Amino acid sequence: MNALSEHKVVEFGGIPPNPEYSVLMEALKVIKEEKIDFLLAVGGGSVIDGTKFLSAAALFDGEEPWDIMTKRAPINKGMPFGTVLTLPATGSEMNSGFVINREETKEKLSAGGDAFYPQFSILDPEVVKSIPQRQIANGIADAYTHVLEQYMTYPMGGLLQDRFAEGILQTLIEIAPVVMKDSSDYKAASNFMWSCTMALNGLISKGVPEDWATHMMGHELTALFGIDHARTLAILAPNHFLYNFEAKKAKLAQYAERVWNVTEGDEDQKAKVGIKKTEEFFHSLGIKTKLSEYTDNYEGVAEEIAKRFTDRKWFGLGENRSLKPEDVKKIVEMSH
Ligand code: ZN
Repeated sequence: MNALSEHKVVEFGGIPPNPEYSVLMEALKVIKEEKIDFLLAVGGGSVIDGTKFLSAAALFDGEEPWDIMTKRAPINKGMPFGTVLTLPATGSEMNSGFVINREETKEKLSAGGDAFYPQFSILDPEVVKSIPQRQIANGIADAYTHVLEQYMTYPMGGLLQDRFAEGILQTLIEIAPVVMKDSSDYKAASNFMWSCTMALNGLISKGVPEDWATHMMGHELTALFGIDHARTLAILAPNHFLYNFEAKKAKLAQYAERVWNVTEGDEDQKAKVGIKKTEEFFHSLGIKTKLSEYTDNYEGVAEEIAKRFTDRKWFGLGENRSLKPEDVKKIVEMSH
């Protein structure tokens, strides 16, 4: 606030985790009433994503801002904004995507575009020492899975992209036990924060196939059960890899070799160990990897998610655009 003393500042607080549409609509009212012309997100991924939505909604010509999320309305302009990151995890501070929750319809949808890059982002690793351990674990697991979404596909000759991705995974594995034990360790905290940003700023995905099916399925578990975003990924990713084993096994084996130093066995065996190591890593963060460990109401949820994907015409997810709603149903069932 001292740094902003030369500016007129109107504060808006209370954007919850999984930024809620109805709360953001309250903020939009303030933006319009106060004739705000610059937004500053001070928070984690939810606050930054919410701010990106507000950036779009503030200059939106249509009637119903939710159309931004359903993509019924294209968006190509946004109010300028900056960010001050208080919780490393999503990488939203250096990308142009955002995910918004709507409790009324139990939906969680993503949108984005070139107009929604921050003007600047301030990343101070000192904030990590104020973060509860559960959120640190979530941040590590989210960033780790962001890398996997852009890496665990098929080999296509992006040698440097692969090494970038493996470097981020190895760094997260190295700092995880340190920052979980002592969040005031500046070296671990700063590498944690930088890894989260680099995991999803577009660098490692350049020129290589991307998956993102784990995130698409995971958003449904958050929308339906309120499970922390990162934990939904830990529930689904290992089973997604197992279900799509043939398509992903070359990269799974490469990952096992290079990231986990697995030297024994043939490609299939190494790939299997790679999946097991991934699950064990989530466990090492205190994150449970079965849906039944979070809720008793999982009967029928696989059908419900498959139905939602069908309704949205999401008929081909994953790097090969081949994952159909019936496959999604089976993966969610494997994750019970
Ligand atoms: Zn994520």
